Amino acid sequence: MNTYKGRPIQHQNGYPVVSWANHPLSMRGGRVYVHRAVTYEHYGDTVIGMHVHHTDHDKDNFDISNLELLSPSKHSSIHKAAVPILRICAYSECTNVVAITTKRQRHRNACCSSDCGEKYTSGTLTRINWPTRQTVIDMVRKFGYVGTGRRLGVSDNGVRKFLKRTAG
Ligand SMILES: [Zn+2]
Ligand SMILES: [Zn+2]
Repeated sequence: MNTYKGRPIQHQNGYPVVSWANHPLSMRGGRVYVHRAVTYEHYGDTVIGMHVHHTDHDKDNFDISNLELLSPSKHSSIHKAAVPILRICAYSECTNVVAITTKRQRHRNACCSSDCGEKYTSGTLTRINWPTRQTVIDMVRKFGYVGTGRRLGVSDNGVRKFLKRTAG
C-alpha cells in the first residue's frame, strides 16, 4: 500500500506519513503519521496527547489490529522492557547466556532452559560452600550483589541473605 486515503505515503523517522494539513494530529509541515491517523479514525480525540504503539514493532504495519493506544509513560515502559539484557544462566553449573526481554524476568533469576530451571529451583545442586563472610563482603564491594551471586552460583538476594544470616 503506497497511499492512505488517496494521499501518497512518504516516510518520516522511519514511519509512514501523509500530507494532511488540517488533520487534528498534523505536525509541523502539515504531515500526519499514518498509524496515528488510523488510530484517530477509531478512537477520535482520545488519541491527542496519547502514544500509539505498534504491537509487532513493525513501523510500516498500520493496521488497526497492530496499533495500541497507550499513555506516554506506559508506552516508554514497554520499550524499555523490550530491550533485551544479557545474563548468565542462574543455574551455577551452566554458563549459557540468557536474553531477558520482559521486566518481570529482570527480577527473577532466569535460566537458559527449563532443564536448568529445574536444577536451579530444586536447590540440591545449587547449595554452595560459602567463602568467609569477609570474602563475600570484599566480593560485593568489587562485583556488586548480582556479580557476586553470579560468581557463587546464587541469586543476589542469596548473597544478601547470607550476609544477614552471618552478621554478628
Ligand atoms: Zn511503541
Ligand atoms: Zn543453563
